Amino acid sequence: YDDRDGKIWMDGEMVDWRGANVHILTHALHYASSVFEGERCYNGKIFKSTEHSERLRKSGELLDMPLPWSVEEINAAKEAVLAANGLTDAYVRALAWRGAGEDMGVASKRNPIRLAVACWAWGNYYGDAKLKGAKLDIAKWKRPSPETIPHAAKAAGLYMICTMSKHAAEAKGCSDAMMFDYRGYVAEATGANIFFVKDGEVYTPIPDAILNGITRQTVIGMLRERGVTVNEVRIEPGDLEGYQQCFLTGTAAEITPVGQIGEYSFEVGALVQQVAADYETLVRA
Ligand code: PMP
Repeated sequence: YDDRDGKIWMDGEMVDWRGANVHILTHALHYASSVFEGERCYNGKIFKSTEHSERLRKSGELLDMPLPWSVEEINAAKEAVLAANGLTDAYVRALAWRGAGEDMGVASKRNPIRLAVACWAWGNYYGDAKLKGAKLDIAKWKRPSPETIPHAAKAAGLYMICTMSKHAAEAKGCSDAMMFDYRGYVAEATGANIFFVKDGEVYTPIPDAILNGITRQTVIGMLRERGVTVNEVRIEPGDLEGYQQCFLTGTAAEITPVGQIGEYSFEVGALVQQVAADYETLVRA
């Protein structure tokens, strides 16, 4: 991703893609002092742009690194970088981090808080799994307790176990991994939230140890508007057997049906297909 033409917005300037570099003593590289957003632009409009900018600022606050940019400024940076790259349908990645500076220890208050926004064309996150139903591994790593790390932050530090889980899943021929939380309840996939369907009702984990995704919240609203009952519950491993359909939600994943989790199989049924169609209509509206 580093060697290509294009522009990236960095700290208020539009820089050449290949020149969008940081110093090796960047605090974030050493101590994971970094937060980010993943967004999608459809037909020239970023879906829930303000909600994503607000979450980025909130993630920064949760990591004790308040962003020196307002929601409006972040929104404008995203628009500017899309325009500079001539893209109307793209993935948008905003990243805020502690830079290099006076501090090289764990404390970093004297180092600048930096912001960059990049964008690129990104198709289906799960490739053809989106049609057939993704195959998920069960991760050995657990989502940590909220007393261990602020789970509501979209913070780089939370993704180390996601990368390891996804690598292990891919080595087994799976598209992704479902993770349990620290208590052993079903949590989420490595970059998406998870939903199940049983007898026409929808079940999804209570967001008390997971990222409460913007897509997750959108889908819950859409389903309730359609009159579908959505239950936010604790899901135990033994519950998986009783569910008939399963799907993932996320900005990159959009709505992806799941066909298999470990030994459990799910059908790509009418409700999942309806949710996917409704979401597609909504984001392109
Ligand atoms: N959980 C995790 C761990 C994620 O990385 C993502 C992607 N941001 C999600 C859930 C879904 O969040 P959203 O719908 O806001 O993209």
